Amino acid sequence: MVSCDNCKNEVAQVWRYRRPTETMTFWREEQRCAGCHPRMDERRGRSSA
Ligand SMILES: [Zn+2]
Repeated sequence: MVSCDNCKNEVAQVWRYRRPTETMTFWREEQRCAGCHPRMDERRGRSSA
């Protein structure tokens, strides 16, 4: 099990998600579950469970 950096839930799988910080000087890489990853959300429609 791994934990999602966004919702802190333990999930079976996470995907890497890179997002810019406030300063835009560097990218922060997070591990996100399917529910938190924007691209996964697109695929699944709107499942916010
Ligand atoms: Zn999550």
